[in-house]
Amino acid sequence: MTLQQAKADIIHVGRRMYERGYVASNDGNISVRLSEDRLLVTMTGVSKGFLTPEQLIVIDYDGNVVSGRFKPSSEIKMHLMVYQERSDVNGVAHAHPPTATGFSVAGIPLTECLLPEVIVALGSVPIVEYGLPGTMELVEPIRKFVHDYDAYLLENHGALTIGPDVINAYHKMETMEHFANIALTARLLGNVNSLGKKDVDNLIGLRDRFGVTTKAVCQLQNGHNINDQSVADSQPIMPPNKKDSANEQPSQDELVRLITREVVNRLGAGGSESGDDGQAKIIPVR
Ligand SMILES: [Zn+2]
Repeated sequence: MTLQQAKADIIHVGRRMYERGYVASNDGNISVRLSEDRLLVTMTGVSKGFLTPEQLIVIDYDGNVVSGRFKPSSEIKMHLMVYQERSDVNGVAHAHPPTATGFSVAGIPLTECLLPEVIVALGSVPIVEYGLPGTMELVEPIRKFVHDYDAYLLENHGALTIGPDVINAYHKMETMEHFANIALTARLLGNVNSLGKKDVDNLIGLRDRFGVTTKAVCQLQNGHNINDQSVADSQPIMPPNKKDSANEQPSQDELVRLITREVVNRLGAGGSESGDDGQAKIIPVR
């Protein structure tokens, strides 16, 4: 990889990330492996939508600046770890795509077997435990996943994707965000049908043909109606989708009674007792 080509690739990826709304302000960072001892990375504090060649810096694997007038992003520590752990990776992209990041905030990983291209290219996207951006707190939790996945949701932060080149890494970011949008739409529509084991196995079998090396596999589900109890437990509470008339809404007392009954049902007999008025009282669970 020549320095000139690497600079052109990072500028190209930065523009696409910005145009698709994956980064706001000066968010995100991008890097390319130049050689055994050199990386090209984005500088700190600039919009990725309007990068110039001078805003890209050559560093060594300890993060020292080799050439360039500016400081690299503090989140480059994440990139350094990836390159040290994965010799097959030559490009890394970090951004805050809104829907995928929304899943990370909701604590819902993108692990279901829903779409063929996602099953082939990514397999599954885990949520990596939160760490303070710019510190090793952010880096170490990713290390636990780095050999098994090529795309990661960073809890309450954003997303990271890696690949044999930086364009490939960026395409995984696009695929992840597209997947997150579709998964969100299906959840809002109230039903999520996933693919079965045979279909998933067939798709995994196509990976060699497309040069996909990840071993990550999506999680097969049994029941898929979002209203199923097993799925509903992990759903955020949605507001009512229509307000027909005041008469059709339960009163506040009625609402309290319904919620209490539901909570008591979920706690089971061991978590409740009958009160004097015949209604259950909730014992706090610690
Ligand atoms: Zn970030």
